[in-house]
Amino acid sequence: MRRRWIADTWSPPTGHPTHAALTGEQAAHLARVLRATPGQIFDVVANGFLHRGEVTSVAESEVRFLLHEELEADAALPIHLLLAVFKFDRMEWAIEKATELGVAGITPILARRTEKHLALAAPKRAERWRRIALQAAKQSRRTDIPEILAPTPLAAALQRETAPLRILLSETERSLTLAAALNTALNQQPATDNLQLALAIGPEGGWTPEEISLFTQHNWTPVTLGPRILRAETAAIAAIAIAAARLSG
Ligand code: SAM
Repeated sequence: MRRRWIADTWSPPTGHPTHAALTGEQAAHLARVLRATPGQIFDVVANGFLHRGEVTSVAESEVRFLLHEELEADAALPIHLLLAVFKFDRMEWAIEKATELGVAGITPILARRTEKHLALAAPKRAERWRRIALQAAKQSRRTDIPEILAPTPLAAALQRETAPLRILLSETERSLTLAAALNTALNQQPATDNLQLALAIGPEGGWTPEEISLFTQHNWTPVTLGPRILRAETAAIAAIAIAAARLSG
């Protein structure tokens, strides 16, 4: 299997690129550690398109590619994850795993029970979360990088959510399972439609009753992952895996 790289720059800037380059750490690694030489072939993702890329020049600051034929790429799962901000080490783990599993985007949510100091520090953390998503996208050989939006208060995030199927992972829901909710939704929609799904996971302290009623006002369906209380990151990974199995089956 050829090694895959996600280009830092490409041209033309819109549409299908014909040329691409790696810069910064990626270029240094390719030049110094892997000792790339002109003529070598790698898989290169540029502007979301996966190509066979031929190295045309190598410097520690920039490695350039001529892009040959486009290769078949896997689409991201049509899942937007609304992930309440919780302890950063666990949050980072969740972002990494959600990226590996294929979500299209993640919005960190400032929930009522997100700890104050975490909510204050979250905006500065977003850049680090984007770097983690980039690394995880490369490592898992994705052809795109999930969008990590700026941390957003819950009300604003619910206001702008456009996914037709909106599912709230709720530790207080007792009967409707995520799998059952997805089955119902998929049976109701035309086979040709690609169902867009939003999944919301609460913080360590859970959602407040007010937040749960806000979700209800915005037509979110509360579901359970079973009788055990899961840590937020466990709930996120389990929910994505269940949804991925159902959406691709
Ligand atoms: N402090 C809460 C409690 O003790 O009831 C638990 C919150 S849990 C650690 C964090 C989030 O994970 C929840 O808000 C929910 O989104 C999700 N979650 C955890 N267990 C779940 C379950 N069994 N079903 C659905 N969601 C769950």
